[in-house]
This record gives sequence, C-alpha cells and structure tokens, in this order.
Amino acid sequence: MDVDETFPEIRESIRKLCDGFPGEYWRNLDRERAYPTEFVRALTEAGFLSVLIPEEYGGPGLSLAAANAVLEEIHRRGCNGAACHAQMYTMGTILRHGSDEQKAAYLPKIASGELRLQAFGITEPSSGTDTTRIRTFARREGDRYIVNGQKVFISRAEHSDLMVLLARTTPRDKVARTTDGMSVLLVDMREAVGHGLTIRPIRTMLNHATTELFLDDLEVPVANLIGEEGKGFRYILDGMNAERILIASECIGDARFFIDRASAYARERQVFGRPIGQNQGVQFPIARAYVQTSAAALMVQRATELFEAGRPCGSEANMAKLVASEASWYAGDTCLQTFGGYGFAEEYDIERKFRETRLYQVAPISTNLILSHVGTHVLDLPKSF
Ligand SMILES: Cc1cc2nc3c(=O)[nH]c(=O)nc-3n(C[C@H](O)[C@H](O)[C@H](O)COP(=O)(O)OP(=O)(O)OC[C@H]3O[C@@H](n4cnc5c(N)ncnc54)[C@H](O)[C@@H]3O)c2cc1C
Repeated sequence: MDVDETFPEIRESIRKLCDGFPGEYWRNLDRERAYPTEFVRALTEAGFLSVLIPEEYGGPGLSLAAANAVLEEIHRRGCNGAACHAQMYTMGTILRHGSDEQKAAYLPKIASGELRLQAFGITEPSSGTDTTRIRTFARREGDRYIVNGQKVFISRAEHSDLMVLLARTTPRDKVARTTDGMSVLLVDMREAVGHGLTIRPIRTMLNHATTELFLDDLEVPVANLIGEEGKGFRYILDGMNAERILIASECIGDARFFIDRASAYARERQVFGRPIGQNQGVQFPIARAYVQTSAAALMVQRATELFEAGRPCGSEANMAKLVASEASWYAGDTCLQTFGGYGFAEEYDIERKFRETRLYQVAPISTNLILSHVGTHVLDLPKSF
C-alpha cells in the first residue's frame, strides 16, 4: 500500500485539526519563539499524543505506523510536531522498564494529558554525542539520589511535568564497560525547578523550546529510578528506534509539504509567458525530490514493519532517519529555489519550514553517527572511536 494512504481516518482528523492552526499561527509563534500551547492542547485532547500507550493504561494502544501517520500529516500541513512529539515515545522508557507501580502511577495520567512527559535529558556540553562520557552524576544517599551536572539542548523542559534523565551512578573508570553505570531517573520538574534545577532557554534558528539545565544538588527519590541502577544506557537505546522512525516520519511530512507547495507554485507562477514548472530546470528538481521522498518513505515503512514485528531494527531506523532527513532537506532547498525571492518572505512559510527541517540532520542523532553505525555494525568496517 502507498504509505500516503495508511490510516486515512487519522490523516483526515489531523488535517481538520491542523486547519485550525494556519501558517499565521506558526509565524507569530516563530517570531516570539513562543510555545504552541493551543496546538499541543488540541492534539492532547484529541488523543493523538497517547496513541502508543496501551489500552490497559488508558491509551488507544495503536501501532507505531499510526503514530507515524499522525506526525507525518502534522508536518505535511505546515504545522510542527516537534513541540510535543516526545510525549508520544518518551513514555516507552517507563512502559518497557518501569515497575508496575510506576506504570500505574504515571502512564494513565500521561495518556489523559494530566501529566506531560515531554523532556528527555541526555545531551551534555562536554560529552556531545559520546554519551558514555556524560558527567551528570546521581549519588545515592538513603532513599534519595543527589544529582549534580549540566545538560544542554533539552527541549520542552519548560513545558513538561516530568523528565527522563540519564545520569551516571558509577564513575566511567569504575565500570567494566563504558556503557555500564548510567541510570535513568524520572524527575518531577514541578518539584525540581527552584530546588536544584535551573532551566535556561536557548534561542536557536528555529522555534524549538530548547533549554540548558543546571542540576545543583537536585534530590530525586530512589523510587523514581527506572529499571535497574547502572543499566540506563541500554534502556535509552531501546527507546531510540521508535524515536528515529517517528522523526523520520516528520521529515517525510516536511518533504511532502515542500513538494506540494513547490508543485502548486510552479504550475501557477508565470515568467517569460509560461508557467515556471514548464522549464525542466524547475520541474526536474521537484520530481527528484518526489522520487527521493518516496524512497525514504519506503525505508521508514520497512523500519516500522520490523519494529512492529519485534525484530531488531536499529540499523533500519537509523537509515530511515538519515534518508528521510536528506529528502526533506533537498525538498526544502528545491522549494525555496522554486519560489525565487518569495521563498524568503515569511508569509509563504517556506523559509520557516526550511529552518525547521534542517534540524533533523543533527538531532536527535547526526548523520555522521548514523554512517558510523552502518559502517561498523552493518558493513563490519573498523571502528574509528
Ligand atoms: C534544537 C535541538 C533540540 C535538541 N533536543 C534535545 C533533547 O530534547 N534532549 C537531548 O538529550 N538532546 C537534544 N538535542 C541534542 C542533539 O541530540 C545533539 O545536538 C546531537 O546529538 C549532536 O550532539 P552535539 O551537538 O553534542 O554534537 P557533537 O557530538 O559535538 O558533534 C559535532 C559534529 O561532529 C560530528 N562528529 C562527532 N564525532 C564524530 C566522529 N567520531 N566521526 C564523525 N563525525 C563526528 C557530529 O556528527 C556532528 O556533526 C537537541 C539539539 C538541538 C539542536
């Protein structure tokens, strides 16, 4: 089946919802770097952010493919799911590795929207992509962890009640494998802010509500440890396949947005007495963008099928994210070129989407790190680090 046709009812509902949030809404927020509170509320109330939560915890328990359709369609309509996409998948860490008590305490409230689990704290200034070198340390004292450290580019922290935080609980030089000795803590942001947690917004080239976090003797109850102490890195890795696939779906949506807009404009815009799209120099890049996007969508579909079958899909999820982010970037560049000067004018939304889609070649994982994964894990080439 054409991936475009999956979940037509979901896509139709998303289209209707997104009609209430036109370009002007996003442009105003973009100018102020403000959070799309009304859009996120509408998605939450319609139940779209809880699609992956099983029925026993109050969600509809839909498939990853359904969640893909939600995010792809949001992006195709010119909206931006990055403001809330983590609410869909970050709960997976609790679902897969949390205790029965934790699942019962948090998942139904996340499903209803009463609790927002939007923040995911991994990246640090000094470690970068090398997560094993994170310095944030959680020291156990009785029934509490005392957490000290710093995180950077932690998105939506100001708009989240809870945060999944990765911290070292054993120093790197005291573990057998460098991936051991890290733990996942669930931080209640409502209690933490002002009591050991300081959040500082980072203004970026796109409206993304990202922040820097300073953890200074932050107390986290041991009851908020997810899974076993020291195994956190594995738990985070477990969640990454869904994240990669969902973000690849956003890229497919962006690419289709650009292709829709570029095709419509190229059909209508008359220069030298004919539509610009009649010139192959204009038409072929749009056609190429379509070809690349269709191929990337198939890769996303393949990774999703493996994920849903419970089969290993780390390489496929990463490859899907890589090709989808490159397809959306190429489509964005082509769309900008097709619009000529007008592409740079804010009112067409092309320059905004162009800035937004560029992120996906860097976050949540950069292209080079995916190539390194494929080189060493798939092609058995020697590791460079
Ligand atoms: C807007 C935004 C939102 C984000 N949201 C979150 C969030 O919510 N939570 C979170 O934890 N993080 C978040 N991040 C962080 C993001 O995941 C990282 O920026 C990304 O993983 C890259 O890490 P880095 O910036 O430290 O780059 P670095 O690790 O410093 O890398 C810099 C460049 O060098 C390349 N490079 C590094 N090592 C190698 C190597 N060995 N071989 C080849 N190339 C290499 C990288 O590919 C990259 O291009 C966000 C980032 C941004 C910009």
